Amino acid sequence: MLFREVIGHEALKHRLISSVQQNRVPHAQLFLGPEGCGNLPMALAFAQYLNCESPGNTDSCGQCPSCQKALKNIHPDIHFTFPFIAISTGKKEEIKEKCADWLPEWRTFLQQQPYGNYNNWINFIQKENKQGNINAKECGDIIHRLSFKTFESSWKVLVLWLPEFLEKEGNRLLKLIEEPPEQTIFLFVGHNPDRIINTILSRLQIVPFGRLQEDEVAWYLQEEQGVPAQSARQVAVLSNGNIARAAELVQVSQESYTSTLRQWMLACHAYDITDMFAWNEQFIKWGREQQKQFFFYCIHFFREVYLMQHGAAVLNRLTEDEMNFAQKLGGKLSAASVERIMELFDTYIYFIERNASARILITQMTVSFAHFFHRHPADIRHPFYAEWEL
Ligand SMILES: [Zn+2]
Repeated sequence: MLFREVIGHEALKHRLISSVQQNRVPHAQLFLGPEGCGNLPMALAFAQYLNCESPGNTDSCGQCPSCQKALKNIHPDIHFTFPFIAISTGKKEEIKEKCADWLPEWRTFLQQQPYGNYNNWINFIQKENKQGNINAKECGDIIHRLSFKTFESSWKVLVLWLPEFLEKEGNRLLKLIEEPPEQTIFLFVGHNPDRIINTILSRLQIVPFGRLQEDEVAWYLQEEQGVPAQSARQVAVLSNGNIARAAELVQVSQESYTSTLRQWMLACHAYDITDMFAWNEQFIKWGREQQKQFFFYCIHFFREVYLMQHGAAVLNRLTEDEMNFAQKLGGKLSAASVERIMELFDTYIYFIERNASARILITQMTVSFAHFFHRHPADIRHPFYAEWEL
């Protein structure tokens, strides 16, 4: 990967490049930042730059044989370790006990989803519901791989993605990290320092990454994914600076969630039972992930309604279409109710993540909205309604 393909973090790119130019590259670093911030793509770009045969002042050349291999993630001196599913039974060709056995899949994944998160990767390699891990065998293999001299370049680099998955067996790497073989650099790439074993963490120099800005995410969606400007902005707002989530949002729904929300609210407001249930049936057909993303969108939307009701300055986070709709809806709901609605969506997301029945959840929600709009006499009381009355 080239530095210019990595979104944002310009100051950091500059610092990494200077460290190479001044020959002061710390040999064990942790690229630490929130999910979807791009610390893995940055590690790939840095590994490529370290080995580029004619590096420039701002980027690798992209042309030399070393760059060509790094771009395809097949460079013999750039090694990868990542959480994976160990398969130790079955036919010989099906046995996959260390990262080297998963390399073809890993390379495809890096090409397709360089900003992908742990779940994206694990779903990419399996259909069952197994947890990934970095096992003892892989730790042994790291020691073995790094014991060789470099094949064809100046640096041997190990990119270790998600050291959070290194458990006790990670301690086997301590000596290697402390007294690395010549010209060896460790690039750990992680999100949560509390989940990295202390013995490892204390030996790494931390390189902190911030969240990406909304406009950086929107730019990426527009330029790299060809998403239309308006949707790109909408998704960027929802993504919270997380490119992995933004990519999921785009994949899940190219169309705007606004019209879906509007149909739902109109059916509830009109108290049209047929429309309400037809809408529910549509919702139930969606996958869990899409249902969740829709609720994230609803929270975002109602948050804006709430701000509008309080006369907060319009932040241009809504499209014109959404703004009109938000104003209408805001006129029909009290601010206290909107606050409660956001909490409810949060609760529903929690239940969806724990595999609750979508049918029960959405039926409750739809009926609640309908009653709510109509200040329905509390003859059928539901725990939620009591708090929902105006
Ligand atoms: Zn090059």
